[in-house]
Amino acid sequence: MAYDSENIFAKILRGEIPCTKVYEDDHALAFEDINPQAPIHVLVIPKAAYVSMDDFTSTASDAEIANFFQAVGNTARQLELAEPGYRILANIGDDGMQEVPHLHVHIFGGKKLGPMLTRD
Ligand code: AMP
Repeated sequence: MAYDSENIFAKILRGEIPCTKVYEDDHALAFEDINPQAPIHVLVIPKAAYVSMDDFTSTASDAEIANFFQAVGNTARQLELAEPGYRILANIGDDGMQEVPHLHVHIFGGKKLGPMLTRD
């Protein structure tokens, strides 16, 4: 899938729509999810244009991949989640039910999170 530069996270990165920023470095931005599904629900995105984790891990450089996962860990530590623990999740594509076509990792925390997936 080609990257759509009009997606909502691209607009956040360009400052065209607001976000509640949690963490930022040269390569990544983390902000609160607008529709939180846990007491703490933050999204971490790379500043570069990647559609998904599949796009990222097949085309990004080793340094970009390292920087991004460091940003995820830095964000969680800044939120003081390392000790109580937290969950990360990335939805990819149709079956993953990804809604926004700019790579994002969800960080959930602030309570015991329960089972990983609901069973059908
Ligand atoms: P996904 O289903 O993994 O693509 O998740 C997209 C997430 O983006 C959802 O949890 C939405 O609540 C969140 N979201 C959508 N628009 C915004 C926005 N403007 N600011 C913050 N989070 C958003």
